[in-house]
Amino acid sequence: MKYDLDRYFLEMALKEAEIALESNTYPVGAVIVDEGNNIISRGRNQVYPNKDLTAHAEIDAIRNAEDKILHAKVRGEKLTIYSSLEPCPMCTGAILFAHIKKVVWLLNDDLGFGGYRKMKGTLIFEDRFKKVEMIPEPFKDLMERQIYLLERWAENPNHIENLRKIVQKGGI
Ligand SMILES: [Zn+2]
Repeated sequence: MKYDLDRYFLEMALKEAEIALESNTYPVGAVIVDEGNNIISRGRNQVYPNKDLTAHAEIDAIRNAEDKILHAKVRGEKLTIYSSLEPCPMCTGAILFAHIKKVVWLLNDDLGFGGYRKMKGTLIFEDRFKKVEMIPEPFKDLMERQIYLLERWAENPNHIENLRKIVQKGGI
């Protein structure tokens, strides 16, 4: 049986999410791949390490792709982004700007800022969204690993709810 490439790259995104959690930031990772299944870039959430609220995994991967993503956009090459979590509205916008043609993620983000399906559902930029294939939650076991990372994140001192508790107690 041929090894599932979507699974292979999602596992790589999950690995980036694990590294992010180890650096005390949101456990989200992303990988961008070209038509030949070559890895163009990897990214992970860098919000806390970089003190940059826009440093999401998908944005990080797009930035790390540098001129490769621009060349792919000009030539109309089919890039795929794999993320461990459903992209937020900001990252969804960046994905459309980058002309990425396929988006695959491990876990829908209904409670948080998951925005891809909501934005697609509004039919705003319908023509743009029509050009992007969307594959949410293809593998249950990998999805559960991402859920586990988020549960661990909820216990992290940098998690926003935990930071707020400190502020309420008069700290920071
Ligand atoms: Zn995002």
